[in-house]
Amino acid sequence: MENKTTASGSRPRLLKQLNRALVMRIIREQGPKSRAELARSTGLSDPAVLKIVGGLINDRLLQEIGEGDSTGGRKPVMLDINPNGAFAVGVDLTPEYIRAAVVRLDFSIAAEAAVSIDPAEGYTAILEHMRLLIEQVIRESHVNPHRIMGIGVAHPGVMSEQADRILLASNLSSLENMPLAKDLERHFQLPVILEVDARASALAEMWLGDARGIANFLSVDIDVGLGSGLVLNGHIYRGVNGMAGEIGHMVVEPQGPDCACGKKGCLETLVAFPAIVREAMRSPGPMLQAYCGEQASPVDIDCIIEAAQKGDASAVESLRRSARALGMALGNLLNVIDISTIFINSKLAALDELYLQEIRSTLSHYFLLANEMPIQVRPSSLGRKGEILGMAVLVMRPFFQADPESASINTPSN
Ligand SMILES: [Zn+2]
Repeated sequence: MENKTTASGSRPRLLKQLNRALVMRIIREQGPKSRAELARSTGLSDPAVLKIVGGLINDRLLQEIGEGDSTGGRKPVMLDINPNGAFAVGVDLTPEYIRAAVVRLDFSIAAEAAVSIDPAEGYTAILEHMRLLIEQVIRESHVNPHRIMGIGVAHPGVMSEQADRILLASNLSSLENMPLAKDLERHFQLPVILEVDARASALAEMWLGDARGIANFLSVDIDVGLGSGLVLNGHIYRGVNGMAGEIGHMVVEPQGPDCACGKKGCLETLVAFPAIVREAMRSPGPMLQAYCGEQASPVDIDCIIEAAQKGDASAVESLRRSARALGMALGNLLNVIDISTIFINSKLAALDELYLQEIRSTLSHYFLLANEMPIQVRPSSLGRKGEILGMAVLVMRPFFQADPESASINTPSN
């Protein structure tokens, strides 16, 4: 009996959610629309659109923004997303810092702040930094806290299947297997979502960046670590264990440098920032010493980039080595996954001739169809904001993309 009631009761509600999400999605993707235009592009009847739009305005998710151009007759009233109708807190957790932002429903940023961390501080201290930082951005954003829909945390490494904890993160091992999502949920009384950082930036690239309209691509994050987010047929590909995209720990030199994961010669140990700094500082010339000092910190990539741009030979060569190692791995990978666009999300992506070009030429050496199928290697359009924006997309996606699983999203209260 009970089941029957639930099933018949949920169907109209699901349909309503789907139609609301459809209207929101069309306006998000195509810009402001009139009610008549919405009826045309959704295929819904005029009364149905009136009702749906009325509900969305009432919930403050849509707003009227004035009159559009007339096609004869009265000028239509245009509707747009209400940026202040709902918010998400996006958090980018890295081994060096935590950055957090309050993101509006139109994915603009209302407030943003960061704090340095040391992974050696341990879980409790890092959780406390994160908690204080989130409280700070919520306070500074001056948004209505009741309209914050949830918190999304992007993190390096591998995520647990339940998406509630970090399973493996060689650079942040003190957080491994800790109840991060649950602890934040309990404190903030909000839903908390975790996601691997490179996947969050791939998602942001797909929703808000240059990957709009590209159904198959790889987004590669190069930072202190190395990871990637793989998008296949318009969806993030996670793999059976949630490991998909973990390119940093492909062993490419069995006798190579030690990796934090316990193996030797992982791709990360040849490509990521510490590898570039290590190679450049092996025999630094006077220019590199002037920029980086006698001993550059393993993550101080800025001084290496500056020296390389001024033509320092060992800085240039260390960057090229990193690009070649990555290009070879990507060329091999493309032979397996057969995609044609790669986004590079890193400070290094600003070095087109020096870095991206080196990836392109090495990659085409290993990719079998390089002559027939040109591969695009492009800088990410969002940069390191991609992680935060991707987490905001995950939190607020149900407003735009209702499916049976997410149809139960609640409308923000006043
Ligand atoms: Zn490794």
